[in-house]
Amino acid sequence: MKYLKDIMLGGLSLVEGMAVTFRRLFQPLVTVQYPRKTNKISDAYRGHIELTPSGDPKLPHKCIACGTCERVCPSGVIRVQGSKDHAKGLKVGTHFVIDFSKCSLCGLCVESCPTGALQYSKEYALIGQTHWDCVYDLMERLHRAEATKKEAAKATAKTAAKLAA
Ligand code: SF4
Ligand code: SF4
Repeated sequence: MKYLKDIMLGGLSLVEGMAVTFRRLFQPLVTVQYPRKTNKISDAYRGHIELTPSGDPKLPHKCIACGTCERVCPSGVIRVQGSKDHAKGLKVGTHFVIDFSKCSLCGLCVESCPTGALQYSKEYALIGQTHWDCVYDLMERLHRAEATKKEAAKATAKTAAKLAA
């Protein structure tokens, strides 16, 4: 008797599941074919930290290598290096190395930075296969991103000039 009851319950559960699937067939899609398509990220989304672009082509970041973020980070995953041109000059960050595999995204570094050099990114697809794939020098990354932007702007200007000729 219990055996028959189990079969009936199993069948009922299957019908219920299929009914949900059938109903969804006629409703608007809520998923996209990632990675070919992506959804718009909410303004409230807080991704991993990144350096805030300064808008100055000579020095694309605002880090003065004060080390505050390094000291407040509860996970101890930040290492900052900086240099000065001369003894009385301002210190400028040269390397900002972070291990994202141990970062808890608590945001203390962003909140405590005196120059606003750090912000939350909108990135959600940062992946790696090894621990070392998660270790980044954010300054190098920013320099690369700025260079790519410049290249893209040059290519766009070239295409526009060709089309205008
Ligand atoms: S978000 Fe938190 S854990 Fe991550 S680097 Fe900043 S202070 Fe450290
Ligand atoms: S990112 Fe901000 S807190 Fe960290 S070293 Fe640079 S200036 Fe200081």
